[in-house]
Amino acid sequence: MITWDNSLNSLFINGKWQGSISGRSESVINPATHEKLTEVAWAGRTEAESAIQSASSAFPSWSKMTARERSKILYRTHELLLERVDRLSTILTMEQGKPLAEARGEIRSAANFFLWYAEEANRLYGEWIPSSIPGKRLLVKPEPIGVIAAITPWNFPSSMIARKLAPALASGCTVILKPAPETPLSAIELVSILAEAGVPDGVVNLVTGDALEIGSALMESRDVRLITFTGSTEVGKLLMKGSADTLKKLSLELGGHAPILVFEDANLERAANQTLASKFRNSGQTCICANRVYVHENVKERFIDLLQNKIRHLKAGNGLEKGVDLGPLINRQSLDKVQSHVEDAIQKGANVLNGGAPLQVDLSGHFYSPTLLTKVTNDMKVMQEETFGPLLPLQTFIEESDVIHRANNTDYGLAAYLFTENLSRATRVSEALEYGIVGVNDVFPAVPEAPFGGIKQSGIGKEGGAQGIHEYVNIKYISTIIDE
Ligand code: NAP
Repeated sequence: MITWDNSLNSLFINGKWQGSISGRSESVINPATHEKLTEVAWAGRTEAESAIQSASSAFPSWSKMTARERSKILYRTHELLLERVDRLSTILTMEQGKPLAEARGEIRSAANFFLWYAEEANRLYGEWIPSSIPGKRLLVKPEPIGVIAAITPWNFPSSMIARKLAPALASGCTVILKPAPETPLSAIELVSILAEAGVPDGVVNLVTGDALEIGSALMESRDVRLITFTGSTEVGKLLMKGSADTLKKLSLELGGHAPILVFEDANLERAANQTLASKFRNSGQTCICANRVYVHENVKERFIDLLQNKIRHLKAGNGLEKGVDLGPLINRQSLDKVQSHVEDAIQKGANVLNGGAPLQVDLSGHFYSPTLLTKVTNDMKVMQEETFGPLLPLQTFIEESDVIHRANNTDYGLAAYLFTENLSRATRVSEALEYGIVGVNDVFPAVPEAPFGGIKQSGIGKEGGAQGIHEYVNIKYISTIIDE
């Protein structure tokens, strides 16, 4: 049984849990049942400014701690997350809706980011450059960038925070976290664990609340040196524009429109399983999930049969129940977007093989039936925009060069996937795809040890890998003349 004793004191500033100055709070709703779970404090500009002040004051001592000391705190965070996986995953499912097994996977992934950056904290090496001028010593030294702000979405309410906070803390930065209003409880749990693991007061601050007020305080502040954001391309651009006056660094993980290419030499059973796993995980509310599938004309019938048979067995419902594969969409607006993509496609001639309508389950949440469309044309919205729901449009192709062109013909550049058993084709096509991430026979490329991030309008910068920690450092170059 999960209870929230004092959720109105849910802002965490300078090591103290507190309510909002205005006394305002907002409800947290279970998207499967529409039951109110609790209320959380709602911050505005003043609380955001206090959080910035607190993070600025904490920066000198946190950044001067040895990497080994910071690393120990991150290891402890990893352990606590794993010890509490039952509680954390239940909370995650209750506020976000995804099936419990997926929530458990997300908590483990969040824990693994803390483990990876506990290790990387100790390997943030500089360089000693051989000088071309006698008597000079040239040193390159990474230094933490300073106070950073992390703004995160609701679709992965724990791992999106972990991917930012773990490298930021490892490098010596201090943090203001603004989580999505739909899923503040996972953020509160994670921040409590960080405090318990030994993060000193002021190093991590949490402000859930008014996005415009908090966002403008963060963007206008000269003390905030970097904003790391995961969310829509539209908001990413707003943050970039709003940060121009203070010339902040930005790390942006934005929307995607991932293609899956299934070649005629693919292992079709594997391609179908992985296509479904990619598309219907989190009910399609995943930035790297398949948004469109291109299958070779010669294998389309078998591939479609495999997809249809598997889709029929997917079970929707409350994510806390056993055997549920699909949870609800986060809100009515998300359902309307999926429905508008389906209606637009039907009106322009698409064929609905599975689904095609909201799903009636014995719950108040917004569920949508897993949907497969064929006879899809490029002018349909579903082929142009990110759907963020359980809708899979399928087109066929014959020529490799043609499908590469179609896959690349978008402003997005986050993730793309291909299925083939031919090594030369795998290499050739993965090199030709204009994406930050390419999965070859693999739709789950996101791991802490590898750099994740998009190109074009899908973002700037990397999360994960050795590269992920470099987002949070400035490179200082020290040139010294010495008496020899
Ligand atoms: P969103 O509407 O862009 O919101 C994301 C976060 O930004 C929320 O916390 C939101 O708070 C906040 N926000 C909105 N406007 C703001 C402003 N003016 N100033 C400061 N903060 C602001 O995105 P979403 O609907 O939550 O998430 C879905 C999107 O995220 C999809 O496009 C998906 O592809 C993308 N995503 C990308 C990745 C990746 O790694 N590339 C991963 C996951 C998701 P409010 O809700 O209060 O406005």
